[in-house]
Amino acid sequence: MEIKNFLKGSYFSDFLNPSQIIFDLKANDKIQALEELLDVLAKQKLIKNKKPILTRIIDREQLESTAIGHSVALPHARIDTDGDMAVVIGRSKEGIDFDSIDNKSVYIIILIIWNPSIPGLFNHLFAGLAQFLRRPGFRKRLFEAKNKSELYKVISEIELSLPRPDDKIISQASLLWKLQKIEIQKKKRAAKEKKKELVMQADLIRQELNRALLDRFDRLMERYGFAVAELDEGACQGCNINVATGMSSAIEGSNDIYVCENCGKFLIAKKKKS
Ligand SMILES: [Zn+2]
Repeated sequence: MEIKNFLKGSYFSDFLNPSQIIFDLKANDKIQALEELLDVLAKQKLIKNKKPILTRIIDREQLESTAIGHSVALPHARIDTDGDMAVVIGRSKEGIDFDSIDNKSVYIIILIIWNPSIPGLFNHLFAGLAQFLRRPGFRKRLFEAKNKSELYKVISEIELSLPRPDDKIISQASLLWKLQKIEIQKKKRAAKEKKKELVMQADLIRQELNRALLDRFDRLMERYGFAVAELDEGACQGCNINVATGMSSAIEGSNDIYVCENCGKFLIAKKKKS
């Protein structure tokens, strides 16, 4: 299936009905919340086995919290399901500790399970959500929803979008790869002149990359010492796990930036040795 066509003009509402929203989560910790949300999907017959899915989601959380900022978490798992995608949303009045990088509690949890036959879906969801959350007016409506139907209405408006909304000629994957090289060098080199040059180069590249992408890049660099991984023979070099075949062939030879569905690092085509 061609992901671009499949998701063209797709909204969260295409995958959501009001019964997939818990307006007041009972849970007060992360695992309880995940279970409570999965129970809804089981009840709706959108998933069969809760246990292995829960394990998968927790494993993913341990690699890197899916609390993506703005008090929202996006736990997810790529699982063979009957449908394309299952979404369930929970709101917590008190807030839940989700091991967020900014140490802030999470109030909205959007749990997503999707079928591996739709490569890149996570990228579209992530991009759509990030674009949505960047707008203060939308965030306000999201957190001030007074009941289930209001919350449903707001979330339904989230549009799935391409990771890169603007198709510029500049090669963003290469830029990001270069930036990573420079940032690693910056840490090593002691010579003042060299450092100055590296800072200048890094600033130049940063001017061309979008804010959300850079925020994520910096968080990954801080946490792992690197943020961008190459795709080598179908496997992400950041976590050594194979990516879906469709996604792999989409990445190969492209200059686009993807997000590894397993480790959350940026995933790009393998650079030719020069
Ligand atoms: Zn990975």
